[in-house]
Amino acid sequence: ANSPVIEKKTHVAQIKHPMSPVLLTSKRTSIEQLQKSLPVYNCRQRILKELELNDTVLIMSETGSGKTTQIPQFLLQAGYAKNGVIGITQPRRVAAITVARRVAQELSGNIGDTVGYTVRFEDCTSKNTKIRFVTDGVLLRESIRDRLLLKYSVIILDEAHERTVNADLLFGIVKDAQKERRKQRLANLKVVVTSATMDIDHFGKYFNCKGMYLEGRTYPVRVMHAKEEHEDYVHTVLVTLFHIHRTTPRNHDVLIFLTGQEEIESLAHQIRQLAKIDMTGTTDLRVFTLYAQLSQGKQLECFLPTPVNVRKVILATNIAETSITIPGIRCVIDCGFVKEKSYNTSDGLDVLKSVRVSRAQAWQRSGRAGRDADGTCYRAYTKKEMDSFTDATQPEILRTNPTSMVLQLLALDIDCNNFDFLDAPLEEGLRSAYKSLDALGAIKSGSVSHITPLGRQMVQYPLDPKYSKLLLTASSFGCMEEILSLVSVLSSDHVFVSNSDKNEIATLAHAKFQSKHGDHLTLLNVFNAFSKTEKPKMWSHDNYLNLRSLTYARNVRRQLAEISERLNLAFNSSDDIEMIKKCILNGFFENIAVLQRDGFYLTVSGNIRAKIHPSSVLHGKYKPSYILFTEIVQTEQTFLRQVTEISFEWITEIVPFVKNIPSR
Ligand code: ADP
Ligand code: MG
Repeated sequence: ANSPVIEKKTHVAQIKHPMSPVLLTSKRTSIEQLQKSLPVYNCRQRILKELELNDTVLIMSETGSGKTTQIPQFLLQAGYAKNGVIGITQPRRVAAITVARRVAQELSGNIGDTVGYTVRFEDCTSKNTKIRFVTDGVLLRESIRDRLLLKYSVIILDEAHERTVNADLLFGIVKDAQKERRKQRLANLKVVVTSATMDIDHFGKYFNCKGMYLEGRTYPVRVMHAKEEHEDYVHTVLVTLFHIHRTTPRNHDVLIFLTGQEEIESLAHQIRQLAKIDMTGTTDLRVFTLYAQLSQGKQLECFLPTPVNVRKVILATNIAETSITIPGIRCVIDCGFVKEKSYNTSDGLDVLKSVRVSRAQAWQRSGRAGRDADGTCYRAYTKKEMDSFTDATQPEILRTNPTSMVLQLLALDIDCNNFDFLDAPLEEGLRSAYKSLDALGAIKSGSVSHITPLGRQMVQYPLDPKYSKLLLTASSFGCMEEILSLVSVLSSDHVFVSNSDKNEIATLAHAKFQSKHGDHLTLLNVFNAFSKTEKPKMWSHDNYLNLRSLTYARNVRRQLAEISERLNLAFNSSDDIEMIKKCILNGFFENIAVLQRDGFYLTVSGNIRAKIHPSSVLHGKYKPSYILFTEIVQTEQTFLRQVTEISFEWITEIVPFVKNIPSR
């Protein structure tokens, strides 16, 4: 009776055995072929030689030539990971994760083993990790604890052209660590700076080295401009896509550049609907989306091949501009806008707004159509409009609020005035940053500014100083648990799902969480209810809430709680809403706005006229005289997002140093 079983076993073994190695080798060969076909492959020896002779090497080459995925592997094979980790910085979280996964796959290993990544609130590395992808923010925070970056043998500062504030700071910190390690006769720190469009002279002078330009291989891209100016670029994009769909072969994939999640999801929805109607049931067009808030699984989906005869359409933010390369793209549609953080030195508040791309960005975007074969780029703007674009994007350090940066440098005992900046931030901005850190109690300003013990605690959190302040003072308001939850849920975006089809039902579902006090307490209600439910998946679905955002918030909360525990903060809890609101005011006193006669709000620190964002629970209701907000969003209009009502008396009680507020 036993024999059939045995037979079956042998049978299985016989089939399985010869099959799997074949599958494995063919997969390996194709990866190897791909690696060898990349432009950096031919420069392997040259790169290694340069790095042997010099401590710093600048490498510039076209996007998609293999810098990010291949160079770390060259270094690993050349033995650079024997006495330390090879670290690669990425300006974006999404890029760090996708690229790490790709390299792990190329080395046929699991992510978190030889190849790993660390991004804010998520660490996927182990003691075996030799190649470590990190966001520049993560490495910067590590440098506060370890200024010489002793863990690393090589640091690759990737995507240097992006010029994020964190990357700019790292340029100086890494240079300093090299010098100091030399002085102390420690092992040299090798630095590779790579970029797609770097200004080699500028970087070369700064790092005191020459640049290497790697010849790429790209195909010609035909560029088409809009014939006339269009108000509604999303519509232009949509029309263009279906024109492409009608007139080009199905295997020409399309990459569309848009500005953000909402725009992307809404256009994706429209395209899917139109594609269905057109093709009577079967669709010959598959839509993928790619933006920072997307879950990891979804982010990787756009790399999957679609069936023959099904066109792949990817709607992406500028993530796909240089950090992530998707094979097979033959057409690009460029909306011509990008969401950018910028601030006004007079008020010190960062504003997220859609602005025109720079000419460099426009060319970078069009180049994405010519990776594999010749391609076409359709621009949703006229040639004349493009004349008004700036040449290159301004480094972030020149256009965002430097408060966090100043504090981080002070935690490294560096005064901004003595820091070796590639491009120094504006004096005026620095002055207001010092002022606001002083008001937060993070520093003591004077002829020389010092970081206070509170300030040192603030930099322990990977958060904007305002949020750190909230956490650090919450115990004294008796509401640590609540503030932990609130800050966590604020760190996560888009908790509320709103689907244009089911808007009314969703609104109804959301109503039960509404707090008349405003959005912060509403979000807290959502998070508390989420924490209590035993069936989070079903519960989120039924309540039109984003399970992924809430799970992320829960994860963030755990980590913030860990840091708070290390700092010996008292974990108290309170249901006194007034105390919670006062505590928020204590951190966000710069974000007070006062109601005007005409129904607009005027922000106290910058005199910006704005309305309450339509997504707010306070929108369309009676208008409180005093509010505080967490974000300013500028589209055609200016909106305050996440708003809470406060009272005038609290301002004098909690933050008496805030002046010039009219009493009602
Ligand atoms: P660079 O950093 O120079 O822009 P990359 O190293 O990111 O180039 O990419 C090299 C090549 O690897 C690209 O042409 C792309 O097609 C391929 N590639 C990168 N990531 C993936 C992935 N997740 N799946 C499949 N191919 C990928
Ligand atoms: Mg790259």
